[in-house]
Amino acid sequence: MKVAKFGGTSLANAEQIKKVCDIVISDSERRLVVVSAPGKRFKEDIKVTDLLIALAEKCIKEGSAEAELNAVIERYAEIAKELNLSDDIVKVISDDLRRRVSLDRSNQGMFMDTLKAAGEDNSAKVVAAYLKSMGIEAEYIDPKDAGLLLSDEFGNARVLPESYENLKSLRDRSGIMIFPGFFGYSKNGDVVTFPRGGSDITGSILAAAIKADLYENFTDVDSVFAANPGIVDNPKPIPVFTYREMRELSYAGFSVLHEETLEPVYRMGIPVCIKNTNNPSAPGTLIAPTRELKDNHVVGIASGKGFCTIYVSKYMMNREVGFGRKILNILENEGLSYEHTPSGIDNISIIVEEKQLDKVNDERLINRIKDELNVDDVTIERGSALVMIVGEGMMRTVGIAARATNALAKAGVNIEMINQGSSEVSMMFGVKAVDNVNAVKALYNEFFN
Ligand code: ASP
Repeated sequence: MKVAKFGGTSLANAEQIKKVCDIVISDSERRLVVVSAPGKRFKEDIKVTDLLIALAEKCIKEGSAEAELNAVIERYAEIAKELNLSDDIVKVISDDLRRRVSLDRSNQGMFMDTLKAAGEDNSAKVVAAYLKSMGIEAEYIDPKDAGLLLSDEFGNARVLPESYENLKSLRDRSGIMIFPGFFGYSKNGDVVTFPRGGSDITGSILAAAIKADLYENFTDVDSVFAANPGIVDNPKPIPVFTYREMRELSYAGFSVLHEETLEPVYRMGIPVCIKNTNNPSAPGTLIAPTRELKDNHVVGIASGKGFCTIYVSKYMMNREVGFGRKILNILENEGLSYEHTPSGIDNISIIVEEKQLDKVNDERLINRIKDELNVDDVTIERGSALVMIVGEGMMRTVGIAARATNALAKAGVNIEMINQGSSEVSMMFGVKAVDNVNAVKALYNEFFN
């Protein structure tokens, strides 16, 4: 049995929904289908989830929002009409939205989540109705009945462990099940959503719960590419990579799946396949527990901007017991989470996301480190990028670092920091943000051309 999840662009209009249904019925193992809310039909379009957020905000602020409500109903009505569905489904959806809008607003997070969830919930009802209209055995599954229990952190929920046991029985149902992504219920019975993009998480939880053979994630690209196509022209597709490689790549800028997505399937060792709804015969990219290592030691080059470095130096730092703990303690006190801490004998660099550092006053932080740790020098430099080469087994190969540094040198990129994680899956270079594009291009050319 496979779990197939379809993202927002795959549900954006009737034409896309027809493609989804063709894909589903073309493989009898695709029995559990997870859908997002209708996404953008064209570049300037607005996703239904964003329409719902605007609707909830206006209701909270102004008491009612008829135009915003109608905009959402209209999106579904158009889809239903083009799918030749009866007006009943539009009535179901419009009643559902009006009911949600009329709910108590005293807990704004709860109200917001109840509205946000309507996008996927009604998407699932439409897809089930369309399959049924074609004479196919299909049913909409209510996450509440199925037992998808989440923590009551509105907009940021996590799955509760008992969900897996509850959801297991979906395996025994017949026909095609259409399950709305993105939300579940708290133990109190309130609607709670995952973070944005969270339908991927729903699919992953379901795949783990029913011990699926494969979790297929349908989106609008043929595969995952070895570098950002916005930086490198026509980067090569990655046919297969491991969960660990995926995790490292997404950390440094690859936004293929929502970060939390892989955890449930990773724990169960279920492979994930990224495929394109608009080109389903393309092989896509497989994410698996392991992969064959031939000469493909490096699978991808990723990069992320928006980092900064706190440089701290103190003569004889290496001899001082507790220095690392004390400095990290200051960061903790200031509410800062750090990313990496490469160090030398008399210095340590702490790499922090720029948006983290924006929360505190630089001068105050510098003074605290100076005064409390008696250091020789502290400086903060903003505008860094982290560029990463990722590949399992890379570290068992002699010369990868040499090739990388050589390529960066030839491109005139100054390396400010090198960090080879203990995971041995990635090698990271800190460079100035202005050098980001050159660095990625140079590394891509070295390892892929
Ligand atoms: N519709 C939700 C969002 O736009 C969830 C998802 O599509 O995965 O964030």
